[in-house]
Amino acid sequence: MTTVIEFRGVERTYPGPPPVPALKHCDLVVQRGEYVAIVGPSGSGKSTFLNMVGLLDAPTSGSYLLDGTDTTALSDRDRTSLRGRTVGFVFQSFHLVPHRSALENVALAMVYNRRVPRVQRAQQAEEALAKVGLGHRIDALPTTLSGGEQQRVAIARALVARPQLLLCDEPTGNLDTASAGKVLALLDGLHADGMTVLVITHDRDVAERGGRTITIRDGSLTETARPL
Ligand code: ADP
Repeated sequence: MTTVIEFRGVERTYPGPPPVPALKHCDLVVQRGEYVAIVGPSGSGKSTFLNMVGLLDAPTSGSYLLDGTDTTALSDRDRTSLRGRTVGFVFQSFHLVPHRSALENVALAMVYNRRVPRVQRAQQAEEALAKVGLGHRIDALPTTLSGGEQQRVAIARALVARPQLLLCDEPTGNLDTASAGKVLALLDGLHADGMTVLVITHDRDVAERGGRTITIRDGSLTETARPL
């Protein structure tokens, strides 16, 4: 098995004053291909945890290995590069550029990747949109798409760089039940294809899709055992 996420005694204290210990000595191992739901009340440390996993923030103490790389001592440039190669982000708000087509929105995610030539970017973007079931809407502007379709474009954008890990922050928070169901089914399919999926949610129904549920409370992680 390959480990994608490894937290060893990760702590994050915001300096304050007064200092806020938002993550307290967190140990966690997530293997490739797992689907993990993170739940917890408001203020429990979910955003801090997400920022840590996605390399948007660094631990105050402890170490974090992402896809086998100890991230603790990386330069900003190397962190950015590792993040770009390894993590795809999906947020509650879709953050699409309104005057660009679905294809352009997805291709834009690769604009800073000089290793992928322009023609190939369009091709990869088209493949990613086909994967989320939007191969027929590549020229559509976000305003002409439903919320669920916009979130699927955002998922295609997250997938286009072929990340190891899909990090989702309340991915169905802005969606009606039917659209949410489609987005969750898409995540199930990606997981079935071997993607490592980590979903932060306060929705128990979403959490139950995962193979594992981890609860954050007051900055501490607890694994919730699943009934057989
Ligand atoms: P959640 O996402 O579960 O609502 P957060 O990770 O945003 O929780 O916050 C965890 C704790 O850290 C809270 O007590 C919050 O007030 C505090 N916190 C979050 N960001 C900062 C910050 N930049 N500076 C100081 N305290 C913060």
